[in-house]
Amino acid sequence: MSDQFKIAQQVVNAIRDHGFQAYIVGGAVRDSILRRDVYDIDIATSAYPEQIQEIFKKVIPTGIDHGTVLVRYHGTSFEVTTFRTETGYSDFRRPDAVNFVTDLAEDLARRDFTMNAIAMDQSLQLIDPYQGKLDIKNKIIRTVGNAQERFLEDPLRMMRAIRFQSQLGFKLDNEALHAIHDNRKWLEKIAVERIAIEWEKTLKGPYFNEAKQNLFRVNLANHLPVISEHIYIQQALKSLTSSLPSFAAFITYMHLKVSDIAISSWTNKWKLSNQIKKDSKLLVQLIQDYTKEPLKWVLYRLPEDLIEDFSTLCLLFQNDPINKEDIVAIKKSLIIKKRRELAINGKDIISFFPDRQTGSWIQNMLLETEKAVVSEIIKNDKNDIREWLQYDN
Ligand code: ATP
Ligand code: MG
Repeated sequence: MSDQFKIAQQVVNAIRDHGFQAYIVGGAVRDSILRRDVYDIDIATSAYPEQIQEIFKKVIPTGIDHGTVLVRYHGTSFEVTTFRTETGYSDFRRPDAVNFVTDLAEDLARRDFTMNAIAMDQSLQLIDPYQGKLDIKNKIIRTVGNAQERFLEDPLRMMRAIRFQSQLGFKLDNEALHAIHDNRKWLEKIAVERIAIEWEKTLKGPYFNEAKQNLFRVNLANHLPVISEHIYIQQALKSLTSSLPSFAAFITYMHLKVSDIAISSWTNKWKLSNQIKKDSKLLVQLIQDYTKEPLKWVLYRLPEDLIEDFSTLCLLFQNDPINKEDIVAIKKSLIIKKRRELAINGKDIISFFPDRQTGSWIQNMLLETEKAVVSEIIKNDKNDIREWLQYDN
C-alpha cells in the first residue's frame, strides 16, 4: 500500500472517530485494484463540510455547494465530499440540485461507471454493489444503471468513457457504445472546457488509437469543436495513431496536417489558454525549421517543458528524428542558453554603427548574432562579434 493510501486511511479513521461514515472512493480505488499509481484520493463521507472543517486543522473550502472540501493532512491533499445524489441536469452543465444523503449506496449510484463506483472502507474491504471489480478484471467500461439515461443525464460521460478507454485500454460494453451513438449530439450542450479536460487525457492515454477508433465508430468526432467542421480534419485525426503528450502537441500535429485551420482557431474554439497557443505556434515553427536551420539553433529555442512534445512530433514528421536524450545533451552543450548571455546587447550594436538611425535593424542584427553564436559560427566575444557584424553589414 502506498504512503498516500496509508494517510488516506488515517483521514478515514479520523472522520469515523467523530461518529461519521467515511470511505475511499472513485479513481483511487479503481487504480489500486489495477495496481496503477494513484495520484489523488477522494473520500466520501456522511459528514457535512462544516463538520469536516471541525475535525481537521487545514481544510480548504473548494466546493462547499457541492459538498466538497480539500483536507490537507500530513502533507497530502484529499478531496472529501459529502454523500450526495444529483438531480436533473436540465442545463447540461451542473446538476440543478445536490441532495446530500446519508447512505453510501446512493452516493455510489450517482457515479458514472461501475469501475468508478467502488468504495473502500477503513479495513480495505471493498463495497462494490455494481460488480465494478469484475468489470475491471474483464476490462469493461459499463455505466452504473441504464446507459441511455446516464449519458443523457450528463453527456460529458461519453467523453469520459472514451478517455478511460484511452488510459486503461478497456473496452466499452455494447450498451454503452450504442447509447453514446444515440446521445452523441448532446455533447454539444457541454461546456467546452470540460470536454477539453477529457480530450487532453484521451490524447495522452497509451491506448489512444483504440479510443480514437471508437470516437469515430460512435460518431462523437462529429460533435467536437473544430474536428466536427470538415471531413479532412477528421482524416487528419484518423492519421494520428499514437498518443501525444499535450494539447499543444495535438494542435501542432493537426496544423501541420491541415494548415488552413489556424492555431488560433483551435485554441479559440476549444477555449484553451494563451500558453497553449504560444506553445503550439513555437512547436509548429521548430518542427518546420528542423531540417532547414542549424540543429543547435532549433534546440536553443525549444523550452525544457516542450522537449517531450518536440521529440514526439519529430518522430511523426521527420525522417531523421532526434530523441529526448540527444536533445537534452545538445541543449546542455550550447554556448549560451539565453539571449542575456550574449556578449553584446542592443546598445553595443548601436555603438558599432554610430552613423545609423535607430530602427528595427538593431533587433534583426541582435537575432542574427544570437543565431551565429548559438550555431558556433562566431565566438561569444564582443570584439569578434563587432568585427563580424561590421564586415558583413
Ligand atoms: P482520474 O484518475 O483521472 O482522476 P477519476 O475516476 O478519479 O479519474 P475524476 O474526474 O477525478 O475521475 O472523478 C472522481 C470520481 O467522481 C469518479 O471516479 C466518478 O466516480 C465520479 N465522477 C466524476 N465525474 C463524473 C460524472 N460526470 N458523472 C458521474 N460520476 C462522475
Ligand atoms: Mg480523480
